[in-house]
Amino acid sequence: MAGEFLEPIDGDVIVAPVELNSFDRLDSHSRKCMYWQTNSGTHEYTRGSTFEKEAWLSSVLLQWGVCAQVAEEFGRPVGSVTYAPPSNIARVRAFPSGPVGSDAVLIADLHAHPDFDTKARKDIRSLLLSAVVSDAAKRGVRALETFARTEKGSERLETEFRGSEAKRHAGGPLTCLQEDEFFLARGFEEVGKDPEFPRLRLEIDGEHLWKADVEHALDQLIFEANMRPSAVNSQ
Ligand SMILES: [Zn+2]
Repeated sequence: MAGEFLEPIDGDVIVAPVELNSFDRLDSHSRKCMYWQTNSGTHEYTRGSTFEKEAWLSSVLLQWGVCAQVAEEFGRPVGSVTYAPPSNIARVRAFPSGPVGSDAVLIADLHAHPDFDTKARKDIRSLLLSAVVSDAAKRGVRALETFARTEKGSERLETEFRGSEAKRHAGGPLTCLQEDEFFLARGFEEVGKDPEFPRLRLEIDGEHLWKADVEHALDQLIFEANMRPSAVNSQ
């Protein structure tokens, strides 16, 4: 699969909600990743089966509504995001900077395919986050929260999972948890302090609304990105 992305690509990325009949549109990481859906008490990576993941997705979809969006380029998945009320996400209990606000929806996995370069991965993740903000605003959600990793948290995960099976599988927990700077640069604020894994929050109905990007998401779901994957920057 990896080599498929090493050719330079110029194209459109489309973000679409994942519905009951479209789980197979998800990227390979998201189809089996159960990191956020389980709580081992540590940051150990949990890879489940597609059956387990589909069971979680359909349960949240039926109870609450759309809980995942996929970014696609020419019909192939290049990234995805999952989000849900915190009661549906077992891993929240592993973070000392919790609990998640009772009025907030939690962003869990948010990632782009690792074979894209840093800039393209950031563009894809921005687009996915934009789609979540837009969806949350339409559904009357008050706030979005997430747990992210600081540099220190990233170093800890790198050290703990170096050479492990989890690390080899699409980055392990480094794929499931994003850098805090990514969210802080997009209007999120730190509400749960932690030197490694702080809790960050974006008010949807407040002045901190990420307005320009919401409008962008509403007006133009098709995003033109000049995405040039780089073998040098591949993970
Ligand atoms: Zn994951």
